[in-house]
Amino acid sequence: MRIIDGVYIVGGAGYNLSRGCNVYLIDTGGDLLLVDIGSEDDVKLIKENIRAEGLNPSDVSVLFITHPHMDHAGGAYKAKRLFECRLAAHEITAEIIEREFRKRRDKLLSAQVEIKLHGGESLTFGDLEVHILDTPGHTREGGDLCYLIEVDGKSVLFTGDVAFKCERGLMAGHPITAWVGKRNQKDIETYLNSLRKLLETVKPDILLPGHGLLALRDGWKEIEECIRIVEKYLRDLA
Ligand SMILES: [Zn+2]
Repeated sequence: MRIIDGVYIVGGAGYNLSRGCNVYLIDTGGDLLLVDIGSEDDVKLIKENIRAEGLNPSDVSVLFITHPHMDHAGGAYKAKRLFECRLAAHEITAEIIEREFRKRRDKLLSAQVEIKLHGGESLTFGDLEVHILDTPGHTREGGDLCYLIEVDGKSVLFTGDVAFKCERGLMAGHPITAWVGKRNQKDIETYLNSLRKLLETVKPDILLPGHGLLALRDGWKEIEECIRIVEKYLRDLA
């Protein structure tokens, strides 16, 4: 489904996928870029959804991963095989996708990450620039990235699990505090800093999260809401 000019949602709960996150496709006018891929079971349907938009799945050149959790990166190996694309991820996430996946119980195949990132850089595809933002705190090992593009003068931020409509609407059962609650205070503070940095430096118009509803207007309000929830959580701990 087209969200705005050149940006589509091609996977996630809206497509009745079992374990996958929201998967986004960016049409740069030449290359197609994916943001996250969901679980291994989701990849085939994502390919069909790309075709249903009148686009050619073999034009997918880079799959950007936000973090190494199964519901976001589990399909990485299969996606590389189906799309013949390169993988881009934070170097910490890359390490997990390249080495750790094969040790896990569900025996996911490891995938090589060709583009290793650490935040602060920008990648250019035709007229489109993808800005890489280092936003640690969600993944225990670090390595969470957000991706920022500009479309028609609007800033569009892909947040993975760093910010999403967490305690309202469809996100019941996946509230932000469910995972924040499993982290130590230092990790939560790191996370809070990432959120504050996003609000101060990016303040996105459109926020496209890894789960739940898309924030198509005043996306920064979602970040504000996440900050409010996490600050309250820390206050209640004290
Ligand atoms: Zn997730």
